[in-house]
Amino acid sequence: MSCIFCKIVSGDIPSKKIYEDENILVIEDINPQALIHVLIITKEHIKSANHLTKENIDVIGKMFLAAKVVAKQMNIDESGYRLINNCGTDGGQSVNHLHIHLLGGEKLGENLR
Ligand code: AMP
Ligand code: ZN
Repeated sequence: MSCIFCKIVSGDIPSKKIYEDENILVIEDINPQALIHVLIITKEHIKSANHLTKENIDVIGKMFLAAKVVAKQMNIDESGYRLINNCGTDGGQSVNHLHIHLLGGEKLGENLR
C-alpha cells in the first residue's frame, strides 16, 4: 500500500484529526493555504472524482455532511468556507485518493483558477 491517505487512515502516518466517523476522516492539511485548511478524506481508497461509481453515492453525501459538521465545529459555518476537489493532472490533484479541501477562517480570493 503506497497511498499516503490510506496510511493516514490506517494510522501508519500521523495526522491531526479533526473529525472521524465510519466512512470519513477529516485532518489538518500539512501545508495550509488558508487560516483553516482541512481535508475531508474517504476511508475507502477511491482514486479521484473521475473514478466514482453509483456505489459511492452514499459516501459523497457523507463527505459534504462531514464538511458541514466540521465547519460548525471550527466556528466558520456562519462566516463561510470553500470546498474544493482537485481531479487529475490539470485539476492539480497531487494525492490520488479522493478528498475535498475545506478552506476558511478568512475572506478567500475570488479566482477559481
Ligand atoms: P491535492 O493537491 O488536491 O491532491 O491535495 C493534496 C493535499 O494533501 C495538499 O494540500 C497537501 O498539502 C496535503 N497533504 C499531503 N501530505 C499530507 C499529510 N501527510 N498530511 C496532511 N496533508 C497532506
Ligand atoms: Zn488511498
